[in-house]
Amino acid sequence: MNKVSFLFVLLILFACNENNKKQSNSQSNERENGKESNAYAIDTAKVASESRVLIDSLVDIRSINPDIQVDLKYATADNFMKMRLYERLRSAYLQKDVAERLSKCQELLSNLKSGYRLLVYDAVRPVSVQQKMWDALDSIPPSERGKFVSNPQNRSLHNMGAAVDLTIIDERGIPLDMGAGYDDIRKIAYPTLEQEFLAKGELTEKHISNRELLRKVMKSQDFRPLETEWWHFNACSRPQGKAKYKVLMEEP
Ligand SMILES: [Zn+2]
Repeated sequence: MNKVSFLFVLLILFACNENNKKQSNSQSNERENGKESNAYAIDTAKVASESRVLIDSLVDIRSINPDIQVDLKYATADNFMKMRLYERLRSAYLQKDVAERLSKCQELLSNLKSGYRLLVYDAVRPVSVQQKMWDALDSIPPSERGKFVSNPQNRSLHNMGAAVDLTIIDERGIPLDMGAGYDDIRKIAYPTLEQEFLAKGELTEKHISNRELLRKVMKSQDFRPLETEWWHFNACSRPQGKAKYKVLMEEP
C-alpha cells in the first residue's frame, strides 16, 4: 500500500464511528486487493431511493413509440456473460428527451424502409450490473478491460439512460445481418475497421450497408456511434451526460 492509500485508509478509520468501522475496513481491504466490487454500495437505502427516483424520471421507450421493439439481452442468459444480469428490469428505459429522439429515428427508418423497425438490446443499465460485468472479466488487467466493458467507476452513459444498444429488424422481424453479433468483442465489430474487413472478404458490402442504415437513422438525431461497437450509440458526450442526468446505481 502506498503512502497516499495508507493516509486515505487512516482518514477513513478515524472518520468512522464504531458502528460503521467494520464496513469501512472491508472497503479498504478491497481497495488494497485492487477489487472495488462493493464500491457502489455506499449507502444501500439512499441508493435504492435515488434509483427509484431516477427510474421514475425515465421513460419506457415503447410507451413513446410502440414501433420500436425490445429484446433486453441482459434480462436473459443470451448475452456474453451467458447469465441473466437483470433481476427485475424488463423494459428499455431512457431519458425522456433521448427516447423522443430515438422515436424520430424510428420514424425516419419507417420512411426509408417500410416495415423496418429498431430493435433495442439495452438502454439504461444500473451501475451495479456494470460492476458485475467488470468483475466477471477480472482475468483481464483493468487497463485492458475497458475495451470490453466500461469501467463502472467512470459511470457510462448507459448508467444515465443516455446510451442505447440496438439493431434493425426487417418486415419479418429478422435482425439485419451486421457481420458480427451483439457484444461481439472481435475487431470485426469495429465500425472503424469495416473497410479492412471488407478487403479481407470477412465483411460484405451488404453487412456494411446494413450498419450504415443504422448509423444514418441514428445520426439523424445526433446519436454518436462508437468506434468499437456497431450497435452502441451515445445520446451526448459523457461530460454533457454527467451535467444533465443522474445515474442509476441499482436495479429499482
Ligand atoms: Zn452499449
